[in-house]
Amino acid sequence: MRGNYRTRPGSRRMGNSRFIVALVMAAMALISYYGSQSYNPVTDETQYVAITPEQEIALGLQSVEQMSQMHGGAYPDENLQGLIDAVCDQIIFNSDAGQTDWPFECTLLADQEAVNAFALPGGQMFITAALFNRLETEGQLAGVMAHEIGHVVGRHSAQQIAKQQLSQGLTGAAVIAAYDPSDPRSAGAAQVALMISNVVNMKFGREHELQSDELGVRFMAQAGYDPRSLIDVMQILEEASGGARQPEFLSTHPNPGNRIGEIQRHIDFIFPDGVPDGLIP
Ligand SMILES: [Zn+2]
Repeated sequence: MRGNYRTRPGSRRMGNSRFIVALVMAAMALISYYGSQSYNPVTDETQYVAITPEQEIALGLQSVEQMSQMHGGAYPDENLQGLIDAVCDQIIFNSDAGQTDWPFECTLLADQEAVNAFALPGGQMFITAALFNRLETEGQLAGVMAHEIGHVVGRHSAQQIAKQQLSQGLTGAAVIAAYDPSDPRSAGAAQVALMISNVVNMKFGREHELQSDELGVRFMAQAGYDPRSLIDVMQILEEASGGARQPEFLSTHPNPGNRIGEIQRHIDFIFPDGVPDGLIP
C-alpha cells in the first residue's frame, strides 16, 4: 500500500509528460506534413511531398538493384531493351513529361512469371518480360510506359512517403531529414535498407493509379501514340489476372471495367471529335 501511494503521483506526472511529448510529436508531424507543400505544374495540383527531388532520385537509384534482383535482373537482349528505350524517349521528349528534370530510365526485366510494370521514385521504371511478351503493338508498350512515367511525374512515391511519415510521426521525419542524397548512407544503413524496402514494395492507391492513367493518355496523345492502346493494355492485364499473381496495374483496382471507362473519358476530352488517323497504334 505504501509503495503504491508513493508511486502514484510520480506515475501520473510521467503519464502527463508522455502525453505532452506525444502531442508535440503529433503536432510536429502534422506541421511537417502540411508544411511540405509543393506545386506540380504537370498535374496542376499542390502536393504534400516529404522529400526533395534530389532525395527522391537518390532513393530510386539506390532501390534499382533490389527491384532488379526481385525480377531476375535485366533482360539479356539489347535489341528489346533498345526498343523500350526508343518508346520511352518518344514519350518523354514529345510530351509534358519532358518539361520536368527527372532522369528517366526504362528497363526490361527478365522475369517471365510476374506480369508487371512499376516505377521507383525519381525516374526509374521497369517492365517485366512476362508483360512485354503479352503486348502486341508499340502503342501498347507506350501505354504501359506512359502510365509509369505518370507515377514518376506525379511524384506518387514522394506523396506516399509523406503519408507514411505522417503516420510514423517524428521517426519518419527524422529518417528523411538525415538522408543526404549525395551521401545516401548518411541516414544509417538500417534506415536506408528500410526505406528501400518501402519503395520497392510500395503500392499506389486507386487515386494515383487513375491519375497515372490520365497522365498516360495525355503523354501518349502528345507523343503521337493512339491512347486507345492503353485500353488494350487493360484488357490484356484483365486476361492475365487469372493467375495467382495480380498484375500491378490491377492490384488496387477491383473493377477494371470502371478504369477503362475513365480512360475512354480522358480520350474523349482530348479528342472531342474522335481520335485522329495517323497515330501509332
Ligand atoms: Zn500504376
